[in-house]
Amino acid sequence: MALAFLMLLLACSPQLQQRLVQQEDLIEIRSKEEPTKTSAFRIGGPCLDNEAYAPDTNYLDHTPMKYIRVNVHWFNTADSSKNYNGQEAIDFTRGLLSTANKDLARNQPMWLPSGNQTPTLPIRHRYVLTPRPNDPTDDGIYFHYVNDESCFLIHKGRNTNLYKRGIIRKFGIQLDTVLNIFIMPHHPDSVASPTYHPSSTGVALGSVVKVAGMIEDGGPSWEFRSLINHEVGHIYGLTHTWAYNDGCDDTPKHSQSCWSRNQRPECRDQTSNNVMDYNAEQNAWTPCQIGKVQRRMADLKSRPRRFLQKRWCQLNPQANITIRDSIRWGGAKDLEGHLTIAEGGTLTIGCRVSLPAKAKLTIQVGGKLILQDGAQLHNACGDQWEGIWIEEFGKKKGEVLFEGQPEILDAVNGIDLSQTVEKSS
Ligand SMILES: [Zn+2]
Repeated sequence: MALAFLMLLLACSPQLQQRLVQQEDLIEIRSKEEPTKTSAFRIGGPCLDNEAYAPDTNYLDHTPMKYIRVNVHWFNTADSSKNYNGQEAIDFTRGLLSTANKDLARNQPMWLPSGNQTPTLPIRHRYVLTPRPNDPTDDGIYFHYVNDESCFLIHKGRNTNLYKRGIIRKFGIQLDTVLNIFIMPHHPDSVASPTYHPSSTGVALGSVVKVAGMIEDGGPSWEFRSLINHEVGHIYGLTHTWAYNDGCDDTPKHSQSCWSRNQRPECRDQTSNNVMDYNAEQNAWTPCQIGKVQRRMADLKSRPRRFLQKRWCQLNPQANITIRDSIRWGGAKDLEGHLTIAEGGTLTIGCRVSLPAKAKLTIQVGGKLILQDGAQLHNACGDQWEGIWIEEFGKKKGEVLFEGQPEILDAVNGIDLSQTVEKSS
């Protein structure tokens, strides 16, 4: 008897269900005023705000780490007398990339302006030495022994070849998917000139970074780590900060007259340590600079996006994200795992969000998804994701609200929000 009663009770009590969202689940909301958050370095409308791409230290997993594929080329004369060779060059390469990554892993507080409160946020990109696939002999480090002048870097003067691209076409490897770093000797004639300084120097040219000064300096690889971070900063859209408007208000202009703090007494308070200035440190990145790099990486049309490992194309359960608070994503994101909005969580999306193949967006009972005008849920790899699922318990269910005409693309149950707009108007 008691068992029968228990079974009856079970049958009548509501069960937690999970199902794909249907057209009738969607609730249109009247467009309220744009969020009026005025940002010091806001430069445009939705998806263009650098600040929206800066990592949130409370939710670092919402900004997945990006890995830049690089390879390294050592240029030398045919008699191999002008640059590092063999194991020495291989060790230099590995040391250079690992110390550059270490600097990225420990961003430093800004020195300018004096007394600033600029937050020191984590930098969310790293380098990965990347050989050609399917070639076990390839380690991503290449040697070119060249018979003519093209092996040298001439960074100024009448014969400068800093911006010449012929050498890129000739020696570049996997230029479409890997950022090539060319390490070149200075020209011996330049080195002999009293007005030419064969110092560490570089240039960023689309898919190639050319650098020089290693062999002439003779110092250890780590001395050049900031040169790499500076030039790759250019590749991802950063410009020098000291004299121009670089689109970031947290990178102050300054006289650039001090190289290091100990140079002269007044340099104590006037020296920059920003990565995009010229100085002895080059290891401080501002929130705007970090955000700007992430924005370029998330821009589907940007060329340097192609250098990134496409970690967002495969579902990684280690990268699942659960929203438990009120969160707004105003910048584009490429997620790598499932996305869940838990009870009490509200996720407002104002820009592009890619979910990997087989990933689900689940809204639990008491959770809320708000899609703003300009929001786009899709898969950035040409695959399909599993769509929006809502949990239901009795009369309660996860909620989906939208305003304007956001898009849900590439989902197994592609619901069309424009249809819903039509119905409700
Ligand atoms: Zn520069």
